[in-house]
Amino acid sequence: MSHYELRCRECGRAWGNQPRSICDDCFSPLEVAYDYDALKASISRERISQRPPNMWRYSELLPLPQGYEPRLPVGFTPLFQAPRLAKQLSGATAAAAGNLYLKNDAVCLPTLSFKDRVVAVAISQAKAFGFDTVSCSSTGNLANAVAAHAAREGLKAWIFIPSDLEPAKILGTNVFGAKVVRIAGNYDQVNRLCSQIADEHRWGFVNVNLRPYYAEGSKTVGFEIAEQLGWRLPDNVVCPMAGGSLIVKIKKAFDELINLGFVEAKEVKFFGAQATGCSPISTAVKTGSSEIEPQKPATIARSLAIGNPADGHYAIKVIKGSGGWSEDISDPEIINSIKLLAETEGVFTETAGGVTVGTAGKLYRQDRINPEETTVLCITGNGLKTTDALAGVYPTEQAIAPKLAEFERYLQQVLTPADIPGVIAEAEAVGA
Ligand SMILES: *Cc1c(COP(=O)(O)O)cnc(C)c1O
Ligand SMILES: [Zn+2]
Repeated sequence: MSHYELRCRECGRAWGNQPRSICDDCFSPLEVAYDYDALKASISRERISQRPPNMWRYSELLPLPQGYEPRLPVGFTPLFQAPRLAKQLSGATAAAAGNLYLKNDAVCLPTLSFKDRVVAVAISQAKAFGFDTVSCSSTGNLANAVAAHAAREGLKAWIFIPSDLEPAKILGTNVFGAKVVRIAGNYDQVNRLCSQIADEHRWGFVNVNLRPYYAEGSKTVGFEIAEQLGWRLPDNVVCPMAGGSLIVKIKKAFDELINLGFVEAKEVKFFGAQATGCSPISTAVKTGSSEIEPQKPATIARSLAIGNPADGHYAIKVIKGSGGWSEDISDPEIINSIKLLAETEGVFTETAGGVTVGTAGKLYRQDRINPEETTVLCITGNGLKTTDALAGVYPTEQAIAPKLAEFERYLQQVLTPADIPGVIAEAEAVGA
């Protein structure tokens, strides 16, 4: 017997294990529930710490089929301090600058976003349920992850996307041999179509009929943050939101670690980040509403462009219940934030990461986040997938002849002394 099963989030009815995401009795979403008493006897911090550095080290806390042998080392991405970014965002003192951390899923394997984690879990169940075809509706990163995992497992993949996705995300799906279906509509329309297809065809839609299992994969971001902080919870987490699932699952992960006695109990504040052009969750938080009013997305942050977020209601609950907040930033602010993160910490993130960084800055300025507290920013995707967002930001330099004299002439023209190699700005030189 399995140590987990599907349960209705509202009426609590148990549904066993099957490809299903909605309770027939009350039409609420299903969630994976675990037998925590059994888990307490079978895992410990020590055992986890001895395992290879990937998300499978938390296997017992994931809904994996018995005896499942994962074939990709997904997750366990770096967590590191971001002192130079901290100074820029919050004006933190040198002493406090070490309190800001980045959880960098821009380098998650195999497809450079946190979606690799959710798909890794969904695929295990797709195989257990005997699907030979996996599928999804996607804002881009999920498409890449499903296509790559399907290729690795020898499954067929059908991917449904809004037709205006970034070219790199479409190519990054095609390359794995997946069938890509472009839909002339936005994500919410694509998703509705996929629900209808899932009723007609026996396909494993990772974010439709496999959604409860899929969503559990996001917990590994929370497990890793806690373990990488030395089995300690941060004070604050800033998380980008599309469907609102990731932020809810990081909270679930922290609660599970407390419940298992792996970390000391702590009231972590959750902060949600959105683009103003698609901000149904942050708008609800800011206006004090507990329900989502759907929006029509209009933002360069396409990976977050879900106007009617499936887990929006639960995201609002997590944010408000934790004493956190939600904010949103404009497209120009997203671009500036992508540049700021890259220039201060050497991390090139996609538009969603820009949303997280820019929103964090706003929250510091609003005094909603205290620079003296430990704060983790979730960087969820890679900048090389959304280079079109930066089109025209950097002019192409004129080429010069490969001659020393030419270069010397060029050097005389360079903009400011700070650009000349060998000249270190004063503040840097004193080791600030
Ligand atoms: C999907 C996605 C998110 C948001 O995830 P949800 O769980 O739907 O809220 C954040 N960042 C990136 C890069 C994504 O692709
Ligand atoms: Zn129910």
